[in-house]
Amino acid sequence: MPMQEAVRTLLEGMGEDPGREGLEKTPERVAKALKFLTSGYGQDPKALINEALFTVSYDEMVLVKDIDVFSLCEHHLLPFHGKAHVAYIPNGRVVGLSKIPRLVDMFARRLQVQERLTVQIAEAIQEYIQPRGVGVIVEAMHFCMMMRGVEKQNSVALTSCMLGGFRERQATREEFLSLVRSGGRLGA
Ligand SMILES: [Zn+2]
Repeated sequence: MPMQEAVRTLLEGMGEDPGREGLEKTPERVAKALKFLTSGYGQDPKALINEALFTVSYDEMVLVKDIDVFSLCEHHLLPFHGKAHVAYIPNGRVVGLSKIPRLVDMFARRLQVQERLTVQIAEAIQEYIQPRGVGVIVEAMHFCMMMRGVEKQNSVALTSCMLGGFRERQATREEFLSLVRSGGRLGA
């Protein structure tokens, strides 16, 4: 169990006693948690999207917003979390809506930097759905900033990736941004 061994070594490095009661099972728990939080490595975005690609004549923007994002920053192995907003304009094909949050999870459950996470989501949609354009915005708070006394506890990092029509047409970008900003949550 090399991961568990490594956690024991970390605990010792912190000046802890890995043998004390409260820590006895910690290496096992941490290894299990880390495996789950990085389970995206074993998943294939192409297979996920191909499971639910449908031919349609709909050619207006499709937007799934406020998707929860939980990821680990690759620099500190600390969490960052926030929301992703994903939009595309179909070109004869759409993907089942539930696949979009799963695609986000797939890339978020890897060691990440927020910029790359944003681009990977957009590029996967571009490549496997081949729409007229894709827009992805991720807003997130990073524990490595919040917990280490940078005194920026409430700052949110914003990243975006615009491809195709979202890059070329300002009107498309503006529609995307205004839909993301508008409330529009059922019951709210
Ligand atoms: Zn970090």
